[in-house]
Amino acid sequence: MRYIDLRSDTVTVPTEEMREAMFRAEVGDDVYGDDPTVNRLEEYAARLVGKEAALFVPSGTFGNQLALFVHCKRGDEVLLGDDSHIVQHEVGAASVIAGVQLRTLTSCHGELDPREVEAKIRKEADIHYPDTGLICLENAHSNGKVISLENMEQIHKITRKYHIPIHLDGARLFNAATYLNVEAGEIVQYVDSVMFCLSKGLCAPVGSILAGSKTFIEKARKGRKLLGGGLRQSGFLAAAGLVALEKMIHRLKEDHENALLMGQELAKIPGIKVNIEDIHLNMVFFDMTGTEYDSDKLVKEMLKKGIKINPAEDGIMRFVTNYWVNREDVHYVVDTLKTIINM
Ligand SMILES: *Cc1c(COP(=O)(O)O)cnc(C)c1O
Repeated sequence: MRYIDLRSDTVTVPTEEMREAMFRAEVGDDVYGDDPTVNRLEEYAARLVGKEAALFVPSGTFGNQLALFVHCKRGDEVLLGDDSHIVQHEVGAASVIAGVQLRTLTSCHGELDPREVEAKIRKEADIHYPDTGLICLENAHSNGKVISLENMEQIHKITRKYHIPIHLDGARLFNAATYLNVEAGEIVQYVDSVMFCLSKGLCAPVGSILAGSKTFIEKARKGRKLLGGGLRQSGFLAAAGLVALEKMIHRLKEDHENALLMGQELAKIPGIKVNIEDIHLNMVFFDMTGTEYDSDKLVKEMLKKGIKINPAEDGIMRFVTNYWVNREDVHYVVDTLKTIINM
């Protein structure tokens, strides 16, 4: 049975083209720098986002934590949004690996207030203060929204004044670029390092990229080894990553359009609330408490109809479209949901 899986865009299995590329990949020992496919991926990825160098890492969390580890020294303070992935969903790794203190700022749908960023930067050489080692931004934000280039530019300007690097958690960087209708490099120009995932909406089975300056990536390469992320014939994975960057980034608009359609159709169901203007990417968040239908029960009933979803979190449901969900599926999902809650 074919399932329609709306739980996340991480559920995407590789395409036929990726499987073929993986099967045929030329490989070597990447710790020796001998894997031609990994080398190609890293060069391609760096060029694509306008950075000097890039590094293939096992996961998005790995890439973010490696960035913190390389940018900061133990005891440094990192400024970032209180709802960012690094704070909420990375198991507290920043305190374990980089040994840094995370100082959270109020996030307004993912955007940080540049005045608050400037106010929280440690300026005096006070013996009591930690040093501000890094600012982290997230675009697209995992709340499904894209933060504006203006906001990034303003924060970038402030950090230049105080010589503090910026790391971008760009797990869905290409979704953000698609929404803003710009090249990814236009977003990345405002940061010193960026992590983006190959294994989410881009369908690669494993891996993320960390990109930055040549010196930064040299240090990151050693840090990756230290963390046990020095892989061997990882060209088999990089081969799929290359297809992701060469082909898959150009079709994300389809997922966004399907999400918008899904949001518009869901909004027509009595008791369901959707903020259509909040749909920037492939994610639809909606409130179905007005239907008085239990979300755990909905998960079970939808599964019987071949649809995988997650239950509500704080009363909010999230459906994520991806490569394996087409327009007809969107209509099928909405019709099925309608039938179930009216039964
Ligand atoms: C998914 C995600 C990550 C982490 O990626 P993994 O590969 O799951 O470790 C980091 N940041 C954001 C915003 C994400 O959505």
